Amino acid sequence: MIRLLLIGPPGSGKGTQASRLAETFGVPAVSTGDIFRANVKNGTALGLEAKAYMDAGEYVPDSLTNAIVHDRLQEVDASGGFLLDGYPRTEEQVAELDRLLASDGTRLDAVVQLVADPDEVVRRLLKRAVDQGRADDTEDVIRHRMALYEAQTAPLLNIYGARGLVTKVDALGDVDEVTSRILTALADRGIREPGGKNAQSVGSAESVA
Ligand code: AMP
Repeated sequence: MIRLLLIGPPGSGKGTQASRLAETFGVPAVSTGDIFRANVKNGTALGLEAKAYMDAGEYVPDSLTNAIVHDRLQEVDASGGFLLDGYPRTEEQVAELDRLLASDGTRLDAVVQLVADPDEVVRRLLKRAVDQGRADDTEDVIRHRMALYEAQTAPLLNIYGARGLVTKVDALGDVDEVTSRILTALADRGIREPGGKNAQSVGSAESVA
């Protein structure tokens, strides 16, 4: 039973870490970006509407994004918890998530902030453009997505910070290393993986800035 958010700039490795953590905690990873991409691929009405925004590196409108998250979190597999990757990204989305959680009588356990150097994330995204051929991974669009993150999404960390939910993790370095930093940071907050090596530990010697 865990409800987590992963917030970080494009290219900070959110998607990769989200799937690993979701598996570790036995909850679904819900990525709005993946849901939009699947809809674009399948040519649905939602995909057609979202595509233009995505290709330009703009945010898909809140009304559309909130509706898909509302539906996704109603699904039975998310009833025991979830890990949200790439949502919320705006204040209006924070408000919608607050409403959804309140109506279920649940709340977030933690918000993991992935911290990464902007030049490094641009380098990573340009590499991903070659590896995966994503339409929104050109340099201009990447820079625009980074600017949008700074303007609209980074401020959400203040909202969650004021609620005492944010834990910062250095996102640079080896993927396994970053996963273990996140698990350690969560264990330090009393959130432990079921049956994992941190399950019984009280605190941890490896503290994460
Ligand atoms: P991501 O894979 O998380 O980088 O998302 C890819 C693209 O999907 C973003 O650049 C946006 O166009 C769109 N998107 C994903 N999540 C959201 C969101 N929470 N709000 C608005 N647009 C989103």
